Amino acid sequence: MEYAKNILETIGNTPLVKINKLTKELPCLVLAKYETFNPGNSVKDRMALKMIEDAEADGRLKPGGTIIEGTSGNTGMGLALAAIVKGYKCIFVIADKQSKEKIDVLRAVGAEVVVCPTNVAPEDPRSYYSVSKRMAEETPNAWYVNQYDNPSNTQAHYESTGPEIWNQTDGKVTHFVVGVGTGGTISGVGKYLKEQNPNVKVWGVDTYGSVFKKYHETGIFDENEIYSYVTEGIGEDILPKNVNFDIIDGFTKVTDKDAAVYTQKLAKEEGMFLGNSAGAAIKGVLQLKEHFKEGDVVIVLFHDHGSRYVGKMFNNDWMKEQGFLE
Ligand code: PMP
Repeated sequence: MEYAKNILETIGNTPLVKINKLTKELPCLVLAKYETFNPGNSVKDRMALKMIEDAEADGRLKPGGTIIEGTSGNTGMGLALAAIVKGYKCIFVIADKQSKEKIDVLRAVGAEVVVCPTNVAPEDPRSYYSVSKRMAEETPNAWYVNQYDNPSNTQAHYESTGPEIWNQTDGKVTHFVVGVGTGGTISGVGKYLKEQNPNVKVWGVDTYGSVFKKYHETGIFDENEIYSYVTEGIGEDILPKNVNFDIIDGFTKVTDKDAAVYTQKLAKEEGMFLGNSAGAAIKGVLQLKEHFKEGDVVIVLFHDHGSRYVGKMFNNDWMKEQGFLE
C-alpha cells in the first residue's frame, strides 16, 4: 500500500503546467508552478511546516504551545494544518481588507482569528503587525512566527520549491517570475536556481502602493510609494528580511485592475481557477515580454486557489464597483 502518514506528507511536489492561450504572443515556453495542489491550497504550506519544524527543533515552540501570526490567510492555513497534526493552538491576526472567505477558512480549521484595520501605519497599535506582537507577549507559552523576518520561510523554498523547479525543467529554466510579499518564495527559489545556473533571471511582481520596485531600483525606502491597494497577497509597506534584493534582477508592477482581470482570464481561458496574485503574476510575465526569447523556459509561480476570491475577483458586481469591468 502507498499512502501518506498524515496530511503534511502531501506538501510539495506540485506539477508544472503549460500556459497556452494567455501567453501565445510570447516567443518562449511559460510553465506555471501550480501550488494549489498543496493540501492547504497554497504554496504557504511549505514554509509554514518548515517554520514550525525549525521552531520545535530549537525550543522556540514547546509542546502544547500557541502559534501566533499576522497572516493574510494562506500562511495561517498552512500553520493551522501543521498545528492540528502536531497538537498546537493557533491565533491569527488579519487585516480587514482580506477576503471574508480567507477568514472563514481559518476559523473552519479551528484557528482563532482577530481582524484589524488595514489603513493604519505598521507602528500604529491597531495595525496587525502591532496586535500580533502584543498578543504573542501576553499569551502564555506562545510562539510568534513572524513570517516576514523568519529565515525558515526562505529556507523552505530553497530546500523544496527551488530544487523541484530545477529538476522538473531538467535544468532548462531560464527565468523565474513570482509575486513578492514576505519575499520567502522569490528569495529561496531565486537563490537555489542561481546557484545551479547564475544566468537564470529572477523577476518579482509588485503592486502599485508597495515599496519593493522603487527600493530595488534606487535603494530608497520611499513612503510616497505607499498607499492602499486591492491586490491580495503581494506588495508591502515594509521591507521584510526575507526579501533578498541581491538575487532579484528586477520588479514589474501590475495594477489592481490588471491583476483582477487576469485572475478571471486564467480561469476562463486556461481552466486555472487561482487567486488574485496569480493574475498579477501572469500579467507580470506579459509585461516582461521584451526580456524573453525563443527557447527560454519561463517559470511563473501561482500561489493560491480561486475559491478564496469568489466574493471579489470572481464576482462581477464587485468587479464593476471597483471599476475593473465596463
Ligand atoms: N500570493 C499570495 C496569495 C500570498 O498569500 C503570498 C504571501 N503573502 C504571496 C503571493 C507572496 O509570497 P511570499 O510571501 O513568499 O513573497
